[in-house]
Amino acid sequence: MPTKKQKSTKKVVVESIVTLSFFSAIGILLWQSSGELFFLINFGYIGLAAAIGELLFGLLPREKKVIGRKFSQLMIGVYMLGVLGFLGRENMQIEGFFFYLLAGTFSGPVLHYLIAKIGGTFLFGRGWCSWACWTTMVMDFFPWMKPRQGRLKHLGALRYVHFAIALALVLLLWFVYEMKDFDKHSVIELNWLIIGNLFYFAVAIILTVVLKDNRAFCKYMCPIPVLMKFGSRFSIWKIKIEPEKCTECRLCETNCPMNVQLLSYMKNNQRVHSSECIACQQCVNVCPEEAVNYTKGFDSGFKDFLHYRND
Ligand code: SF4
Ligand code: SF4
Ligand code: SF4
Repeated sequence: MPTKKQKSTKKVVVESIVTLSFFSAIGILLWQSSGELFFLINFGYIGLAAAIGELLFGLLPREKKVIGRKFSQLMIGVYMLGVLGFLGRENMQIEGFFFYLLAGTFSGPVLHYLIAKIGGTFLFGRGWCSWACWTTMVMDFFPWMKPRQGRLKHLGALRYVHFAIALALVLLLWFVYEMKDFDKHSVIELNWLIIGNLFYFAVAIILTVVLKDNRAFCKYMCPIPVLMKFGSRFSIWKIKIEPEKCTECRLCETNCPMNVQLLSYMKNNQRVHSSECIACQQCVNVCPEEAVNYTKGFDSGFKDFLHYRND
């Protein structure tokens, strides 16, 4: 009879292979339909980085599991920003996505947003945010992964303002200034990417240090969650607490980088369908009763239970 440990190791290995196969299948599909081998190499690499990260996360002891997530985040983040962005001159900023959409160009940034930041959220929720994002691959090295206080109420509205400004800017350049010959791989693309990322990193570092919260930029300023929030409500993979094991020690909540009120979901007999959950699984790692799991299923909900300051 296989032991519990052997069974869990087998499960982790199988899940890593599924992840690699999933991304490889996308690569093969796009390669065969476009004739560009790049797609196979690109998605094969991303799948391999995610699968190794998942394997490390599953096999390492609890206190070291975060290494697996950070491995995946660094390998994918550096590749996407450095290789596809800077070397390939693909504007991966949200404005680049809007421009390419208007131009009807089915290029790297469009694929990236459609797969990782829109379509993928129905499967993995906001997994991109903790396993692949190049902004937080840096921010997660600051010492405030466990926020000292709850969220600042109303400041989250800034992300919608940011999103609206980005969209308005692109529409203005496109329709008013007729900037329609938006050339892929051009110097403009590269400069936009560099300036955009410098702005993101500067704001993210300031917010992180001032608010002592690694994920402050994600909570208040980043426009990307506007695209991710809807799909993540329906995500197949979600966090779930087993109420019969839970002692309500609240360790999962105090360690949650996004201030999710996990116990409120448990008390409502629901999985955590908050669109603020980034699937980092820190709650799974810290639970002393092994009551928190990352589970598959079909459900949805539109209520965000979150901790705010002075609540
Ligand atoms: S919210 Fe934005 S900055 Fe934060 S992890 Fe997600 S995509 Fe990255
Ligand atoms: S850490 Fe585990 S036992 Fe403690 S409140 Fe969370 S789910 Fe319950
Ligand atoms: S609920 Fe769990 S998985 Fe979701 S953000 Fe919080 S700690 Fe991470």
